[in-house]
Amino acid sequence: MAKVSEFFGINVFNDAVMKERLPKETYEILKSTIKEGKSLDSSIADIVADAMKEWAIEKGATHYTHWFQPLTGITAEKHDSFINPTDDGHIVMEFSGKELIKGEPDASSFPSGGLRATFEARGYTAWDPSSYAFIKDKTLCIPTAFCSFSGEALDQKTPLLRSMEAINKQALRVVRALGYTDVKRTNTTVGPEQEYFLIDKELYDKRPDLMYCGRTLIGCMPPKGQEMDDHYFGVLKPRVAEFMRELDNELWKLGVLAKTEHNEAAPAQHELAPVFTTTNIAADHNQLTMEFMKKVALSKGLVCLLHEKPYDGVNGSGKHNNWSISTDTGVNFLKAGKNPSENKLFLITLSAVIEAVDKHQDLLRIAVATAGNDHRLGGNEAPPAIISIFLGEDLTDMLEAISKGIHYDDMKRQKMKIGADVIPEFKKDNADRNRTSPFAFTGNKFEFRMLGSASSISDTNVMLNTMVADVFSNYALRLENATDVASEVNAIVKECIENHKRIIFNGDGYSKEWEIEAEKRGLLNLPSTVDALPLLKTEENVALFERHGVFNRAEIDSRVDIILENYAKIIHIEALTLIDMMGRDVIPAITSYTSSMCEAANNKKIIGVDNSVEMELVARLTAANKEIFSLTSILKGAVASAERSTDTFEKACEYRNNILKIMADIRKYADSAESVMPKNYWPYPSYGDLLFKI
Ligand code: ADP
Ligand code: MG
Repeated sequence: MAKVSEFFGINVFNDAVMKERLPKETYEILKSTIKEGKSLDSSIADIVADAMKEWAIEKGATHYTHWFQPLTGITAEKHDSFINPTDDGHIVMEFSGKELIKGEPDASSFPSGGLRATFEARGYTAWDPSSYAFIKDKTLCIPTAFCSFSGEALDQKTPLLRSMEAINKQALRVVRALGYTDVKRTNTTVGPEQEYFLIDKELYDKRPDLMYCGRTLIGCMPPKGQEMDDHYFGVLKPRVAEFMRELDNELWKLGVLAKTEHNEAAPAQHELAPVFTTTNIAADHNQLTMEFMKKVALSKGLVCLLHEKPYDGVNGSGKHNNWSISTDTGVNFLKAGKNPSENKLFLITLSAVIEAVDKHQDLLRIAVATAGNDHRLGGNEAPPAIISIFLGEDLTDMLEAISKGIHYDDMKRQKMKIGADVIPEFKKDNADRNRTSPFAFTGNKFEFRMLGSASSISDTNVMLNTMVADVFSNYALRLENATDVASEVNAIVKECIENHKRIIFNGDGYSKEWEIEAEKRGLLNLPSTVDALPLLKTEENVALFERHGVFNRAEIDSRVDIILENYAKIIHIEALTLIDMMGRDVIPAITSYTSSMCEAANNKKIIGVDNSVEMELVARLTAANKEIFSLTSILKGAVASAERSTDTFEKACEYRNNILKIMADIRKYADSAESVMPKNYWPYPSYGDLLFKI
């Protein structure tokens, strides 16, 4: 087996390849284009396209595609081959700069939320030179943004790139005002930890709910769930270990910095964490990671479940968005260093994040709002739907001291704590306790933990970047005009703590007391997607996004529409699946079992043996079956009524308020039936099989 260092990035048209294959001048122009986030001069696109094509063909590629992320949540591709006919009946392999820079997929079936009138239904894709092209399935994939003809964003990448520009602009002002004069560019960085479940493919194929919805709609808990926690960091099962090994290899070839693979809290649940990188690349890589998780699993007779809540009563899956910002000279804004109380950039950034998160709790909640994630937020282990920040005691004390004008001795505090002269930097202290915080400071970054496992990380980072950019722009103005920068920094910290202290919470975020306390503090608690989404359209939010050129009003309206539409669609499919499962499998199974019990009861009666057990079972199951039968027809009616609704928001509300509730009722009866029925009568593999047979 080849060494990893020999095949890492082998399928990526990365910097080394560009340097080797492009004329020096072209390379330099492209490089500075990428580094400074400028748009590419079209005159050099032809040269780059040709080099890309030659490289791709040598690696066996025959096609190219503009690889983009429409608002469906997955990636889209339209493959074109390189071939072009010649006059003499032969072909040449061609790829022009024009084809590299711009594509026109037939995009009429991608959601646009009304942004793209049908007469201009095509939309176009535009090359993002800051994310490297790569080869996958014999196809040269070119990361692109996807817009309408009038330039409105129809995808995840466009607003993400805009938000990176927005924060860069303001962050540059901040660092310059603080005396970092050599900085040319700042970049937000992200390391997304990705959770997922694996399941045996044969068992998966027997569950229509998993196949159509990605989650189980019924299923009673096995005697053993996750209470033993013996799976967490346990030894990997051979089949899983093999899956992880191959996944790592595939990702490494694509230059994805897959770093840590381990078990998670629930049985059959695992996590992959990459080394952090620039945000738009991290977002692209996370999409690739999810795609390859599914693909590699299938090749091993497994299925990878990315749904946020595949099983009731077991931890769901999320993503942790580790976020920071650093300069092109290598300074991490959130690295505290040895004297955090005197580290101006650190203090300013910390304050900016605290202020931004407090002011824009709604945006963070909106960023993670999906039908799947609604099952998880507030559930077991996962963060509640309330946003708060964990800083740890040391940092909180330090900020309090600064805000009260008390001198904070970094040294003394640390010495007292550890009884030594060695001064450790701020660490992610109380790492166990802070697992309950949705937004935690963990060393040199903030970790937002509310994301759902299936979503793109783009939305979250669009919000984070924009809201921090906005606070930075206010701070920058103050610092630029300050006569004494150091005392202005302290004044900013002071005001931030005075005004936004309520968002800081170092305690147990899962406790009931916190919900009560959070309400007293006036923090938002938005339990579902339909509660959260409409807030994106408030005048304040529209103004924020327009101010920083991230979204315009039309884009915001269309996004809200698409997300709510999607929400309703998902629950619609779930309801239809449940109706089908009940009508065709569960009801007949219960009937069949009860009739065999009736037969047994009858036989016993004939020979004069006690048949009370059979009679009782028949009575209980018949009652459950009757409920299931009548609830199923109620569900059918409710779905029909919701589908008649022409207003997207109203429709989503019907799904949330009525349909999910009826589905939960059906589940209750189905699960109680399952718990007393023999295996050979129950139509589906049990939770026990799904979770432990791998
Ligand atoms: P833990 O596993 O305890 O959550 P780690 O230090 O292993 O913490 O980091 C988790 C993730 O955070 C990794 O993906 C890592 O690359 C990422 N990370 C570390 N530093 C930064 C940073 N400055 N910016 C963004 N992400 C970071
Ligand atoms: Mg983490």
